[in-house]
Amino acid sequence: MSNFSRLLDRFKYSFPQELESKVDIIENFVVNYIRDNEINVKFLNSCSTGFQGVRTRDQIIICSPISMETIGDFLYTIFHEIRHEQQIRDLKMLNPLTDFDLEDFEALYEQYWNMELDADEFAKKMVAKLIIKLEIPIEIAKKLFSLSIVTSTVTFILFSSISYVI
Ligand SMILES: [Zn+2]
Repeated sequence: MSNFSRLLDRFKYSFPQELESKVDIIENFVVNYIRDNEINVKFLNSCSTGFQGVRTRDQIIICSPISMETIGDFLYTIFHEIRHEQQIRDLKMLNPLTDFDLEDFEALYEQYWNMELDADEFAKKMVAKLIIKLEIPIEIAKKLFSLSIVTSTVTFILFSSISYVI
């Protein structure tokens, strides 16, 4: 985790000065989360897989974090892979790569897809929680925490608060 701080620092400069200290809080939160969940996370400069993150038997590998454009993409990828680890290790979900026959491709594919949706939702929620917890103004959050991820995250936040009101 030693270079996690260095990787996060890169994004600090895109924060308005008065919000820069939030990056340290994000760092503590993620480091504690990873430690409490006993997950090994490794950052690699590049992976030949083409994925942003991969899971091996005993660790999560985040690929080319340096090429991620926003802190939102970076955090999303970390939490997405953490969730995959929890799915197999803690939630005992069946692993589509090892627990299915290729002949039963539909079941395998459905399981794979369910896990992707679950990891996607989890990662978005975690990023959304951080934005709320840190009281980052929505307009700034939209910009800093990436459009691809946070447009939907912000929509998610708004949607959930609306459903609570209803
Ligand atoms: Zn995934």
